Amino acid sequence: MSFVYIQTNEQIEKFSQHFGHTRFVYNLFLEFSNNAYKNTKTSVVNYNTWCKILAILKRNEKFEWLNDVNSQSLQQSLKNLETSYKRLFKKLSKHPKFKKKSSRQSFRVPQHIQLYENENNDKYGILFVPKFKEGIKVRVHRKIDPNAKIKNCTFIKTTTGKYFVSITFEVEGSYPERYIDYENSIGMDMGLKDSVVLSDGTKYPAPKVLSKYERKLKHAYKKFSSKEQGSKNWDKAKLEVAKVHEKIKNTREGFLHKLTKEISENQADVFVVETLNIRGMLKNRKLSKSVSDASWYKFKTFLKYKAERLGKKVIEIGMFEPSSKVCSVCGYKNEGLKLSDREWVCHECGTKHDRDINAAVNIRQCGIKQLVAV
Ligand SMILES: [Zn+2]
Repeated sequence: MSFVYIQTNEQIEKFSQHFGHTRFVYNLFLEFSNNAYKNTKTSVVNYNTWCKILAILKRNEKFEWLNDVNSQSLQQSLKNLETSYKRLFKKLSKHPKFKKKSSRQSFRVPQHIQLYENENNDKYGILFVPKFKEGIKVRVHRKIDPNAKIKNCTFIKTTTGKYFVSITFEVEGSYPERYIDYENSIGMDMGLKDSVVLSDGTKYPAPKVLSKYERKLKHAYKKFSSKEQGSKNWDKAKLEVAKVHEKIKNTREGFLHKLTKEISENQADVFVVETLNIRGMLKNRKLSKSVSDASWYKFKTFLKYKAERLGKKVIEIGMFEPSSKVCSVCGYKNEGLKLSDREWVCHECGTKHDRDINAAVNIRQCGIKQLVAV
């Protein structure tokens, strides 16, 4: 993600038109599809049809103003709507929601993008996209390769009014190159059982069904050990144990895939994880060490390949400090913190901490330090 420097009123105007018009088109076709479904009970989700309707609308006097923005960005927001619906139909996400002006805004430019190095200062680049008369000044984090082909770029306006752009490069036979903003990173802590907590406060609890299977496993083992070795019932009970094991493994893996996909698509550029899940191992006394190790290893592996496909980075840090004991605000070390304390208040600065989020924030900070030191 690169920071965008707005320089002229005309640019402000153009950005606000693009954010606003793409949002308008998205909401209009969402409403149109909702109504069509209510009236006919059939869904009319089809990107190509929508594009045809959009083209007709733009010729109408009432909607002429839609021509002020890049038509491909408008089409892209219909593509996004179609994707939202497809996810809904596959039961991967909830019904698409109307976009609000007060939320984070974004629009994508799918083609005709050029990026040049600023002649006087290579920290900046000048980005040219359709409908913007002047080049847009952007902060770049690595040297611009004039031969690199740009795939697309997405402009974002945060809720606090900051502008960013994320540029995806086409690199033959490898992953897209992406400008990495170290500050835009997220630390993560694997907590009790398989739950994961991010430094931005997001918590992903492990699926409830896992503990149900673990109870089942205990039960199956008990039954198995009560049977006479080599008997038919012994064989049967043995098979039952194996089946439950298999179920647990699949559930855990499915959860980790879903989780890492969601996390990798988060807006962060860098993900910081620990080399070993030391604290998880301490907390997971009931769970065997090898299981917790395997889960952590899988989590990292899945996250890595999913993030790298998007041109993002996953870095590992070795933890020597018990990071849940250190206040992420002032650095005070709370030696008295017990494993059972889920929340604590820092004696030094008075910050109230959630144990796992505080640990994830410390992991993030440690990762940034490591990146900057390189
Ligand atoms: Zn403190």
